[in-house]
Amino acid sequence: MLYQRSSQLFAEAEKVIPGGVNSPVRAFKAVGGTPIFVKSAKGAYLFDEDGNKLIDYINSWGPMILGHAFEPVVDAVIERAKLGTSFGMPTALETEIAALAVSMVPNIDKIRFVNSGTEACMSAIRLARGFTKRDKIIKFAGCYHGHSDSFLIQAGSGAITFGAPNSPGVTQGTAKDTLLAKYNDIENVKAVFEANKNEIAAIIIEPVAGNMGCIPPSKGFLEAIRTLCDESGTLFIFDEVMTGFRLAKGGAQELFNIKADIVTFGKVIGGGLPVGAFAARNEIMNYLAPLGPVYQAGTLSGNPLAMAAGLEMLKALNADAQIFERLEQKTAYLEKGIAEKLTANKVKFTINRVGSMISVHFDEAPVTDFQSASRGDNETFKKFFHGLLQEGIYIAPSAYETWFITDALTYEDLDFTINAVDKIAKQL
Ligand code: PMP
Repeated sequence: MLYQRSSQLFAEAEKVIPGGVNSPVRAFKAVGGTPIFVKSAKGAYLFDEDGNKLIDYINSWGPMILGHAFEPVVDAVIERAKLGTSFGMPTALETEIAALAVSMVPNIDKIRFVNSGTEACMSAIRLARGFTKRDKIIKFAGCYHGHSDSFLIQAGSGAITFGAPNSPGVTQGTAKDTLLAKYNDIENVKAVFEANKNEIAAIIIEPVAGNMGCIPPSKGFLEAIRTLCDESGTLFIFDEVMTGFRLAKGGAQELFNIKADIVTFGKVIGGGLPVGAFAARNEIMNYLAPLGPVYQAGTLSGNPLAMAAGLEMLKALNADAQIFERLEQKTAYLEKGIAEKLTANKVKFTINRVGSMISVHFDEAPVTDFQSASRGDNETFKKFFHGLLQEGIYIAPSAYETWFITDALTYEDLDFTINAVDKIAKQL
């Protein structure tokens, strides 16, 4: 397949947009080459500016769980737009989607809508700090919670008590309040709690990590953190930006039967429009302005177009009793097929999967945390990525990303993908 027009468009974009993109991972830096410029998308397919049709395994990084240009969402947005695109005043629509979200997700009484996953996580942390009157938070190495200052903290063995900024622009003052822990290592988490007794406002986790490839929580890990939080008055924040409305109606809380104190959302909840949200029980949510002292706001928050899209998406998921089972089956089929082809071609790999989140690591050892995720063979990944692209299959342009499976995929699409993997694996 040729991607000439995309290359031209990228060259033009680079002149006026830093790196040619509005979000870094789109730039193909990790895999080389130039990004694909999309013209349109429908169902499981992307149509690019060169006229290529690609099977999409990213789906806007998660939101398009029911496929691109899902008609109820598109129709709702068009109809809403005719009524005005923003008011900065309350609408009945906001209450409708809030009530539906609260009814679908366990352990939440109230929800507030924002404009991105970053905003949701940033606001959740501020709320946790205000509520507990403590400053420090714990995050896990390799987990991503958006690009706000508190979260851009890298891993490191000396980081048990003090974080170090890994992005210029994040001050040491901010970094010192973000403590790092190792995913799936409860002894490490205990040690961080122990070293900072009664000082930790919140521990934030991706209950299934999706930002170092897909990494499931080990058995008992989330439960043990829950206990540590209960013992120390720390709030447990589930970042369900990826997992929310994807792994189950009630997200990872429902799937693992674990209660979070604050939950953050993004991606699916907005049906593809810029939406994030955070939610908790009344006691915590009532701490927010205008009821409480913790300030959080947004001119476009609860935007009618975004709420209309999100409402149709949640309604569709809520009404379909089989959706999560279907996604599980499709993704399990894909996993099995890819594993068989890679094994037959003697490629070293590990596949991690939870429901419709899946990733292929090019290393045989189990991938359970950031360290093990970093051991993957990036050269092999690059060949795999570009091999798939040549076959008309689009996966995330980095080994540290998860594939997001859409229900719009057919078994023919999956078989086509599995056969393409077979062909590429012969050359790896
Ligand atoms: N949390 C998680 C788990 C994410 O995966 C992301 C984005 N990939 C974010 C937060 C940030 O969301 P956004 O990009 O919408 O700001």
